[in-house]
Amino acid sequence: MSAPQYDVTIVGGGHNGLVAATYLAKAGKSVLVLEANSEVGGATASVRAFPEFDAHLSRYAYLVSLLPDEIVQDLGLDFHTLSRKVSSYTPYSRDEKALGLYVAREWDKETEDSFLLLDPTGAEWQAWQDFYNEIAVFAKKIAPTMLQPLKTRSELKELIGMPDVWDYLMERPIGEVIEARFKDDVVRGVIFTDALVGTFASAQDLQANICFLYHLIGNGTGEWKVPRGGMGAIVKELKRVAVQAGVEIKVNSRVSSIKTSENSATVKLEDGTEINSEYILCNAAPQTLAKLRGTSAPKSLPGAQMKINILLKALPALKSGVDPQLAFSGTFHANEFYSTFDSAYKDAQNGKLPEKLPIEMYCHTLTDPSILSKELQDAGYQTLTIFGFHTPAELFDADNEATKAAALKAALVSLNELLVEPIENVIAAIEVKSPLDIEGEIGLPRGNIFHKDLSFPFREDNQTPGWGVETDDPRIFICGAGAIRGGGVSGIPGHNAAMAVLQASA
Ligand SMILES: Cc1cc2nc3c(=O)[nH]c(=O)nc-3n(C[C@H](O)[C@H](O)[C@H](O)COP(=O)(O)OP(=O)(O)OC[C@H]3O[C@@H](n4cnc5c(N)ncnc54)[C@H](O)[C@@H]3O)c2cc1C
Repeated sequence: MSAPQYDVTIVGGGHNGLVAATYLAKAGKSVLVLEANSEVGGATASVRAFPEFDAHLSRYAYLVSLLPDEIVQDLGLDFHTLSRKVSSYTPYSRDEKALGLYVAREWDKETEDSFLLLDPTGAEWQAWQDFYNEIAVFAKKIAPTMLQPLKTRSELKELIGMPDVWDYLMERPIGEVIEARFKDDVVRGVIFTDALVGTFASAQDLQANICFLYHLIGNGTGEWKVPRGGMGAIVKELKRVAVQAGVEIKVNSRVSSIKTSENSATVKLEDGTEINSEYILCNAAPQTLAKLRGTSAPKSLPGAQMKINILLKALPALKSGVDPQLAFSGTFHANEFYSTFDSAYKDAQNGKLPEKLPIEMYCHTLTDPSILSKELQDAGYQTLTIFGFHTPAELFDADNEATKAAALKAALVSLNELLVEPIENVIAAIEVKSPLDIEGEIGLPRGNIFHKDLSFPFREDNQTPGWGVETDDPRIFICGAGAIRGGGVSGIPGHNAAMAVLQASA
């Protein structure tokens, strides 16, 4: 092999690849980023999805929680996230009356009243407060460890010092604690949603616990915030700081193979160009890395979510009579009851689209109208981001377009049950992305939004120390969502892979 041309080559220009690149360049390394698509950003893109409308939607990822403030500060990113006053609104009906469970981000009188309407004994809200207060303490302790070398299971458990919470969050299926501490199907469902985003699992599956954990520990608060300017704003900033730090970025450069020797690592592009470097960081999924290396791919669940991006002419009115500005500014849960999740999971496992499709949605523009032109803002336009659950890739394999049409219909039925008039009356434009579309457009294997199944943020006591980004080849590291502690818009595996390279090359 000829002499290395770069210290580090990064395969993929997703947000994590750009984070890794910038940390490395700032530390004096020469870095090349190779991105297959014509734009960097991967799943963190904002696009003008409907050419006739000047609206820039977060096409894939839409909310931010897991990105540590430390990374934003270290890299000097001019990127801001905005809090929402409302945490969630969940319509339900009792005695044929349309009602809704309202939860503010900060516990308030309206939230308490809303819980009391659902359960006049007050037991549910008390259980809710106890549960989330415990988790808040747990989250504060675990969050700082995400940017450190991986702790062992025992070290992390001891550091947190909350053995009971550890037991129900890390060792026992999440369904056990939900069923033991909450009685109401609506409340149980709201809690359980966080265990299912991007994860095709039941309440009895520990994989759901891992997803739940990642949804509650971001920056030690677990708050999900709106990216100002849309998700593409972070890519724009990351690109700016990367280039400023000296990173070279090449788009339309798909890597087709990777090989290493004792002294160097080589990537080959589709056009046959070969590039040598000291190390390779892979921002593409571990399954993709395995293909590029000709090794066997790690097992993973498929992606199981459908993403629907809508431009609305106006917000729809709700049967419960709640102000739509309030209902849609937080996370709006439709058909996300605990029992519905269970039946939807069983339907999907049996190869059927769920009869009752659980969906959740939020309106970005209620918090940040800047993604719309002034003209659209003045005309009252809004966006609606819908995430459909339990729609695994397998359901789309036989006929992607036909299944998408059926799944969209099911999603709109779920929503329309709660509205005064059908949502179709106010839709200006709409696009639907199935797991297969997500794989085709940005390379997430089977549409898994975390590349592969999320992992608990520790290593087993007998495993080799590291950052959770190592592979069996000392010249190759994973810097994307598929690393331990990767997944979501976080930059964490990008940071950790950069630290691992700096340590290895010291
Ligand atoms: C529909 C959807 C909604 C989501 N919602 C949220 C959310 O609201 N909040 C959140 O935190 N997370 C969300 N996620 C998850 C989150 O977006 C991802 O986990 C995260 O962005 C992954 O970032 P990454 O940089 O590791 O990888 P990616 O963004 O996947 O980037 C990898 C890059 O590698 C490139 N690549 C792949 N193969 C090659 C190759 N052979 N050669 C060169 N380049 C290659 C790809 O084109 C891509 O640009 C969502 C994801 C999806 C799909």
